Amino acid sequence: MNTEFAFQLPAPLTLPIHERHARVPVGDVWCVGRNYAAHAREMGSDPTREAPCFFAKARSGVLPGGGTLRYPAGTRELHHELELVVVLGRPLAGASEREAAAAVFGLAVGLDMTRRDLQAYAKERSWPWDVAKGGFPGSAPVGAVVPVQELPTRGALTLSVDGEVRQRGDLADLIWSIPELLARLSEVVTLGAGDLVFTGTPSGVGPVRPGQRMVGQIDGLPDLLVEVAAP
Ligand code: MN
Repeated sequence: MNTEFAFQLPAPLTLPIHERHARVPVGDVWCVGRNYAAHAREMGSDPTREAPCFFAKARSGVLPGGGTLRYPAGTRELHHELELVVVLGRPLAGASEREAAAAVFGLAVGLDMTRRDLQAYAKERSWPWDVAKGGFPGSAPVGAVVPVQELPTRGALTLSVDGEVRQRGDLADLIWSIPELLARLSEVVTLGAGDLVFTGTPSGVGPVRPGQRMVGQIDGLPDLLVEVAAP
């Protein structure tokens, strides 16, 4: 029997899979803050192995495969944060690191676009970061997903704006590894297949303006291209 709906929702949100016809359905979007020591320091924190700082990002902001990001309202300081994105292929709850690693479907290049001025305002007041991190179209550009059997423990990440390298890092410098992050996150939230986990950004975050073009690159993954358009 067909369910009748009171109104129509947009088509399901999906991500392209590199060199395959199939697509990945997208579930929840989770992020971790301060997972590279140099970025923690540039944000005024002390990089330690204290419990990782998790937050969610509204999934409507996912920009599949990159493309055009319209400069959002409510900010004068839209920042790029280049991140490795983990795509889960199975649910996880209270998982071990081994179970967490086995639940990964694939990896992609992502940008955790952040209205830094709104985040600073929220931080001063101990408010949540939600509107700083999401709720605007294009807040989470994610490139084509590459299915993986083994998780990388090293690999260069670079983010260029108009050809100039702004962020440069290496996955070897993650404070919390991918299995550690997923296991920790699965202790406090229920993760499902299709969920995306942004694994944190290296140092060099900074503003972009309308008319600029970002290229995110991570070893072994297809590049992510995003153009910032006028509001
Ligand atoms: Mn981030």
